[in-house]
Amino acid sequence: MKQSKLLIQTLRETPKDADVVSQQLMMRAGMIMKLAAGIYDYLPLAFRSIRKFEQIVREELEKDGCQELLMPTVQPAELWQESGRWSFYGKELLRFQDRKGGDFCLGPTHEEVITDIVRRNVRSYKQLPMNLFQIQGKFRDEIRPRFGLMRGREFTMKDGYSFHVDDADADREYWVMFNAYKRIFSRLGVKFRPVEADSGAIGGSFTHEFHVLAGSGEDAILSCDACDYTSNIEKTEAPALCAAGDEKAFELKRDHFCTPGVVGQVEQAAGMKDAEHDGMPLAHTSKFFLYRVTFADESTKLIGAVLRGDHEVNPVKVKNFVGAMDMEMMPLEEAETFTGAKSGFMGPVGLKNVQILVDRSLQGAVNLTCGANRTDYHHFGLDPARDLPGCAFADIRMAVEGELCPRCGKGRYQAFRGIEVGQVFKLGIKYSKSMGCTYLDAEGKEAPMVMGCYGIGITRTVAAIIEQNYDADGIIWPWPVAPYQVHLLNLDPANSEVNEVATKLEKALEAAGFEVLHDEREGLSPGAKFKDADLLGFPLRATVGAKGLKEGIVELRDRRTKEVRKFKPEHMVAEVITARDRMMLELQEAGGR
Ligand code: ATP
Ligand code: MG
Repeated sequence: MKQSKLLIQTLRETPKDADVVSQQLMMRAGMIMKLAAGIYDYLPLAFRSIRKFEQIVREELEKDGCQELLMPTVQPAELWQESGRWSFYGKELLRFQDRKGGDFCLGPTHEEVITDIVRRNVRSYKQLPMNLFQIQGKFRDEIRPRFGLMRGREFTMKDGYSFHVDDADADREYWVMFNAYKRIFSRLGVKFRPVEADSGAIGGSFTHEFHVLAGSGEDAILSCDACDYTSNIEKTEAPALCAAGDEKAFELKRDHFCTPGVVGQVEQAAGMKDAEHDGMPLAHTSKFFLYRVTFADESTKLIGAVLRGDHEVNPVKVKNFVGAMDMEMMPLEEAETFTGAKSGFMGPVGLKNVQILVDRSLQGAVNLTCGANRTDYHHFGLDPARDLPGCAFADIRMAVEGELCPRCGKGRYQAFRGIEVGQVFKLGIKYSKSMGCTYLDAEGKEAPMVMGCYGIGITRTVAAIIEQNYDADGIIWPWPVAPYQVHLLNLDPANSEVNEVATKLEKALEAAGFEVLHDEREGLSPGAKFKDADLLGFPLRATVGAKGLKEGIVELRDRRTKEVRKFKPEHMVAEVITARDRMMLELQEAGGR
C-alpha cells in the first residue's frame, strides 16, 4: 500500500479532549476521529487492527464449534417487554419510534433477539447444545462516554450465547468459553487476568471478567499473591477480622459523646473524650449508611448498613446480600428527617422499619460508638448482637490491598487496575423462562433451555492493547494486530535508484505474505517520516535511502527494542521473517500471566 494514497492525517499535538493514551495516540496516528460524544469513525488503519482482532476471535471460537450469525441492530420493544427489561434497562437503552408509532431500541446487547431466534428454530434436545455468536455494532447511551474507544456509546462487541439441556452442560460450556477467552487474549500478547466478578442478584461464581491490566483501567482488581484468587473489588471477599476478644462489655451509654459541629469520622473519633478516653480508636467507631432497595417484584425496603469506622462499605455486596435488583442511597435530606439527625450522627439503634446489616468484621465486637440519631451525639458501648436485635452479619465491606486472602489464608491481596475486555456469564433460565425458549427432552417433556452468554469488547480491546504497548514516540503494535507489519520508508523518492529498490522490496515482502505500508511521499524530510513511523508503531521499519544504497545497504528497525540491522537489499525478506519469528516467540512468552 502506498502511503501517499492512504486516508490518514497524523497530528503532532495531542488533541485537547483526549484523556487516555490510547485515545490520544489513535487520534494522533490518524486512526480514529470523533463524530459525536462516544461515537467514532474507524479510519483504515484502525479498521485493519479491528478486523485482525475479530479474525482471532472467530478462529478461536470456531475451534470450539461456535457458529457465527448476524442479528439486527434495531430491535422491537415487544421482545424486551417479554423479557421484562423494557422498563428495567434504564437510559442506556436508546428507544425510539418508527413512522407507525411502533417502539424500538438500538441493541445494547442481544439476549432477547437470540432467545427469539432459538425458540423459533430449536425444538429437540437432539439439537442442543448450541453456541451462537456475532460481531456487531452495539449502542449504549452511556451517561459519561469517555476514554475514546474504551467507553464509547457506539462500539463493536462479540456477543455469544449458548443453549443447553441442563445446568451441568451450561457449566461445561462456561469453562470451554473461559479457556477460549484465555487463548484469544494470549494471542495478543497482552497481560490480562480472568477475575471473579459480580453477577448481580443471581449470586455465586457465575461470572468472570477478563481484564487487560493497565493503570488507566476503570476497574480495581485484587489478586492474592499466593493463590489464584483474583476478583473485581466489587466482589472481593474481605477477611472477617473476627473482633471477639476478652474485652469487658459495657452497657449502651446513650448520647455519651458530644462533638458539636465536628464532621468526618476521623475528627469525630479524635473528639470523643470522657474520663477513660482521650479520643477513640477508629476501629472502635462505627459508620452507618441508609439505602432503599427495590426487588424484582418492585417492592421496596430500607436497609441500614453498619461498618467499622475505618472500613468502606461495598454497596454491591449489600445489594446482593438482600437479593435486590436495584439500590440507591437514601437522599441526605430524607435520611436526616428519617433519623432526626444530621449526617455524621445517624446510627442503627432504635430505627424502625429498617433491616440492619452489620459487617462481619464487627461480629463479636463490643464497646463501639455509633451515631445517636441526635445531632452532635454518639452512643458508646454498642454491642451489635445485643443492641441491634434481628440484625444480620455479612461481608459488606470493601477488601483492601495488603489484607490476608480469606481463600487460602496465606497470601496477601495485591491491587491492580484493569480494563474489562470480556465477560463470560452463566445466565441460567432467566431469558428462556420469561420468553418461552423451551425444548422437548427424550421423554417428550418440555423444559426451558439453560443459557450462557459471552461478550468481548472488540474496539475496547484494540484500545486496551495500546494502553499496554506504547512509548513517548507512539504506539508499539504487537505483531498479530498491527495495521501493517512493515513500514517501508523511502527516504529519497526523487532518486530513481532508491525508488526502484524500495518498490522491489515492497513487492518482494508482499509476495512473501507480509503487509507493507510504503511511505513514498515526496517533499518530506527523513526526520518527518521517522516520526510518523514511530507514531504509527508498526512492528518493523525498513528504510531505503540514497546514502545507504551508496554503501549497498538498507536498514530494518524493531519498533519495540529500537534495534537496527543493516544488510544488503536482497536479504530483506529473510531478515523480516527472522524478526517476525522472534517477535511471535516473545509474544507467546509475554502473553497471559
Ligand atoms: P462496563 O462494566 O465496562 O460498562 P459491561 O459489563 O456493562 O461493561 P458487558 O455487557 O459485559 O459490558 O459487555 C461485554 C463487553 O463489551 C465488555 O466486557 C466490554 O469489553 C465491552 N463494552 C461494554 N460497554 C462498552 C462501551 N461503552 N464501550 C466499549 N466497549 C464496551
Ligand atoms: Mg461486563
